[in-house]
Amino acid sequence: MWTIRATSVTVRYATTNRFKKTRCLLLTFFAILIIMPIVATDSRPLAQTSPAEDTLIKKARAIHEKVINLDTHIDFAPSDLTGERNYTQRLETQFNLPNMIDGGLDALFFSIYVGQTREAQNPDAFTAAGYERTYKLAVEKFDAVQRFTREIAPDKIELALTAADVRQIHAKGKKVALMGVENGYPLGEDIARVKEFYDRGARYLSLTHNGHNQLADSHTGERDGWKWNGLSPRGKQVVVELNRLGIMIDVAHASKGSMMQIAALSKAPIIASHSAARALCDVSRNMDDEQLLALKKTGGVIQVVAYSSFVKTTKPDTAERSAALATARKEFNLPSPTGPGQRARFQAALKALPAEQLAQFEKKLTGIDKEYPGDPAVTLKDFVDHIDYAVNLIGIDHVGISSDFDGGGGVVGWNDASETFNVTLELVRRGYTEEQIEKLWGGNLLRVMDEVQRIAKDLQK
Ligand SMILES: [Zn+2]
Repeated sequence: MWTIRATSVTVRYATTNRFKKTRCLLLTFFAILIIMPIVATDSRPLAQTSPAEDTLIKKARAIHEKVINLDTHIDFAPSDLTGERNYTQRLETQFNLPNMIDGGLDALFFSIYVGQTREAQNPDAFTAAGYERTYKLAVEKFDAVQRFTREIAPDKIELALTAADVRQIHAKGKKVALMGVENGYPLGEDIARVKEFYDRGARYLSLTHNGHNQLADSHTGERDGWKWNGLSPRGKQVVVELNRLGIMIDVAHASKGSMMQIAALSKAPIIASHSAARALCDVSRNMDDEQLLALKKTGGVIQVVAYSSFVKTTKPDTAERSAALATARKEFNLPSPTGPGQRARFQAALKALPAEQLAQFEKKLTGIDKEYPGDPAVTLKDFVDHIDYAVNLIGIDHVGISSDFDGGGGVVGWNDASETFNVTLELVRRGYTEEQIEKLWGGNLLRVMDEVQRIAKDLQK
């Protein structure tokens, strides 16, 4: 079974620790039968692998160490970067420096994310006051990344502003941080803020998140109806300004209408920093074939995301299973893992359980999985199917990789940064060459970044 093989590799190459175990249990809670063997094997001696498998692992390991591995979308809370407990330590988060080092991940875009406020929640959402609130949140995130890279861990990680920076910092043996803005909402109506965000380090920007804003329609319009039928007049100005400054335009979270208009209007290649293929998983966050072909036409790249509900639509738990899981949680005094911020709370509560109780809880879950099986969890294999699909449709030069860790991302086999090697291994297993893997793991994205900045220089002339 593939899952078992992947598991043994995960065990071999990633640090096994209690955090990982609690994360596995968390995934179990999202309806997984196959997770339990993973948990069970975590503490056992390694199974013997065949000589052919050893050769494959060796080959993948050599490629993984050679190429620049870049993840274009990781979320964070400012306190995780600047607090007393921060990403220099192995926190419960999916991303942190120890996990990054264990997984051989070289570079990441920190997401300068602000949520979309709707007028129904806050009548002043699209007034100066509403914009100011979110602008402050964005600035807090920019500042946190700057402080983390300059003051807190300057010996380990450095901020890159160009593709050349990424290559140079990596060559020095340091990790590379970049910044991408998720949601143009905090720009307000002030076009000068695009330049301000550029100066603060932003190198990609998505006009929308979930919910329409002053710049464009979001993918959520498929459910809620449209506001602009694509880009607003201000949104079109922002596209022009992003091109002029050399910030990559990110179409993740955009509606199809917005995305297609951006593709037509942009003078530079565009990216989808964390999206998947709609042909394989029909959700509005994903890109259909027409969109992927339009993105390719700009010279851009889709950074396929390992976000389980964008990779595969799973059936919800049955009422019996939900009830059994709720009873188990109650028995062990654990909070519900679903809902905003609940994931971390659930993990923390699991972590606090004494070893004996944790073992009992696992046993209980095994029983529930047997009696009321949930839909199989979304795996690394399902995720790489999306990479295969995109490569077949638009070619190896237009596809990349992203996790959305700490923003809802993660699949079985790549559920935190320490498991990053598993992605390379699966690519090697499917016959991708070193040259192709180099492109997928960041080569394409860096090419787009170079191209976007070169075009900006021309436009500024
Ligand atoms: Zn997102």
